[in-house]
Amino acid sequence: MAIRSERPTDAVIIGAGIAGCTLAYELATRGLGVTVYDQGPIAAESSGRNTGTLFSGPQAEVVRLLLACAEIYDELADGPVKFGWRRIDHLLIAGDDARLEATTGLVGRIAALGIGVQPVSGQELARDFPQLGFEVAGGFVLDTAWSLEPLMATHAFAHAAREAGARIRTGCRVAQIMARGGKVEGVLTDDGIAAADLVFAANGMWLPETLRRVVGDDPLPRIPLTAGRGWIIQTGPLDIHVPWMIEELSWPDQTDLGRSMDVGKLSDVAERRDDGPGIEAVCFNPMQSGSARLGASVSPAMRDLVRNTDMPARIARRAIGLVKGFASLNIENAWLGNRPMLPDGLPVAGRTPLDGLYVHGGLGSIGMHSGPATARWLADAVAGGAGEPDLPWLTPARLPGWERPVAQRAIA
Ligand SMILES: Cc1cc2nc3c(=O)[nH]c(=O)nc-3n(C[C@H](O)[C@H](O)[C@H](O)COP(=O)(O)OP(=O)(O)OC[C@H]3O[C@@H](n4cnc5c(N)ncnc54)[C@H](O)[C@@H]3O)c2cc1C
Repeated sequence: MAIRSERPTDAVIIGAGIAGCTLAYELATRGLGVTVYDQGPIAAESSGRNTGTLFSGPQAEVVRLLLACAEIYDELADGPVKFGWRRIDHLLIAGDDARLEATTGLVGRIAALGIGVQPVSGQELARDFPQLGFEVAGGFVLDTAWSLEPLMATHAFAHAAREAGARIRTGCRVAQIMARGGKVEGVLTDDGIAAADLVFAANGMWLPETLRRVVGDDPLPRIPLTAGRGWIIQTGPLDIHVPWMIEELSWPDQTDLGRSMDVGKLSDVAERRDDGPGIEAVCFNPMQSGSARLGASVSPAMRDLVRNTDMPARIARRAIGLVKGFASLNIENAWLGNRPMLPDGLPVAGRTPLDGLYVHGGLGSIGMHSGPATARWLADAVAGGAGEPDLPWLTPARLPGWERPVAQRAIA
């Protein structure tokens, strides 16, 4: 017997973070009937609680995502939901000569991708910005970066999606994806069954467990997500003018980041080897609101296991070590969040072996500067009949167990 629901919808999206809300906007503006379900409020998880930085790096994919996203945010910036969207310079700093020397190659790779790069010495920074009290060997000013307020940015997409006809149901969990005969039929939610021709799993760190709960067909291959645990310190209003986002020159590229997030086996948990300090690097975002967010750390973690609680202190010490003037910043809060990371640190957007079931996730440490673009590319591919973007670094087929060919179906 086919499943019945009162209000059939073309597409169900699971998750109202940046992955789900961008997809809702893209699909609704293409004329699909869209319903988004979130177990909590909009952007209650990583999408509302991150550092809000969008900046370049040495990987071509990352710069491509960044530039494509900036165009999409520009489209929404004049809408009714303001999200502190602004272009800002990006200052990369190195604490000592050895690190500065070691990162010259990295900066060369960034410049080769078309990003404007200007060297700046430690003496210049100390002389020109005495209130900040820089104690660094030097750095580089990059001209391609943006700042945003992540909660409101996600809401801007949710609002635009609603304007285009999408329904967003918060406080309603999707317990199960329902399928039969190799084809998705809908979802079981806290409110009952919702029939749908298309289902998009865009629920961040919960994606693997949702795919594990698909019933009616063979098990789906596993999505190897781990939590890149990070801590953020929220400042009060800044009384020092900071004209750039500041990032320490030690952040790895996405591939190294993804690979280092493996939580290992049960024996590693037994030995608490999952409790390592991970990666630390100062990342300071002076936001349009007049306050700032300070990170950053990434440690391998399990989603619901609280560890690394000394990280705010480590970040604070590190920041003050490089920029002495930060010692007097007023602090309002600190919290932890999970980055849904794949082993190569890049997002995933594409189809699954079940006809009509798609994934949009693995946004890792670059969710705000990848989600809008990957949602647009996925929506174009689904509406156009290709099923997924023609970008091998983005589709699930690059993941172990996902290599087999899957059915294609046009909905246009
Ligand atoms: C400390 C930190 C700093 C970061 N800084 C940056 C940054 O500066 N720039 C940047 O680009 N990125 C940054 N990120 C990464 C970014 O926050 C994430 O990549 C992004 O928010 C992930 O978005 P998402 O929509 O996939 O997941 P989420 O935001 O986690 O959303 C998933 C949603 O799915 C819902 N959900 C889960 N299961 C179900 C279910 N069964 N039914 C219904 N709903 C469900 C959840 O409630 C949640 O709302 C940072 C992340 C962290 C942790």
